[in-house]
Amino acid sequence: MKASSRVRNLPTPSVQRLPVYLRFLKEARRRGDDVVSCTRIAEEFGQRSVQVRKDLAITGVSGRPKVGYRVDELIEAIESFLGWDVKTTAFLVGVGNLGRALLNYEGFVEHGLDVAAAFDANPALFGQEINGRVVRPLDQIASTAARLREEGRIVEMGIVTVPARAAQPVADKLVGIGVRAIWNYAPVRLDLPNDVVYEEVKLSASFAVLTNRLRRRDADE
Ligand code: ATP
Repeated sequence: MKASSRVRNLPTPSVQRLPVYLRFLKEARRRGDDVVSCTRIAEEFGQRSVQVRKDLAITGVSGRPKVGYRVDELIEAIESFLGWDVKTTAFLVGVGNLGRALLNYEGFVEHGLDVAAAFDANPALFGQEINGRVVRPLDQIASTAARLREEGRIVEMGIVTVPARAAQPVADKLVGIGVRAIWNYAPVRLDLPNDVVYEEVKLSASFAVLTNRLRRRDADE
């Protein structure tokens, strides 16, 4: 089975919960815990333990009855399942406020994300350095990817932080240099070949849910 079709069949909420469990497990390891039970994880996150067991089962690890999970083994399994134990080389396009924030955020490094270069269309930004990356003109994207390839670094992911109107052509360019994954922060749905894995970060949608809940709570009070 191809990895992409396997990925599509997985329950997304379970995958999204794994990083949360992972953070908890790493804390447990720092405290010196060797084993952790499903019930303990479930308590921590207000989940049912049957749900936690199901979530963790997708990594291929199963706990031992009455003992629980070995913390090390589970951390390794989750990181390997998420692909965080290997480096993912990415290009980021659109060095506006959001693009800059992502370039400056060190948290993704821990997950193996290596943003190798950043591109923009605005000449005023060319040559600016952000957290060790020099902003390059977008028309250097193919040559930069080729240079990295010579060093054995394959650009697998494109991060799109341009405005909505520019997102599709930018994504097409990224696909043109061979990326196999697009992480889209622009508020627009992109049309991509089937073999490119795609994830939209819906910031406005997330905010809408929050403000709607907040205002409903106001109305209830
Ligand atoms: P943000 O939305 O990230 O806060 P911003 O408000 O500073 O950023 P936007 O107009 O959203 O600016 O654009 C984000 C960045 O994308 C800018 O640096 C802009 O120059 C760049 N950009 C816009 N169109 C393109 C394009 N076609 N190719 C590459 N970069 C682009």
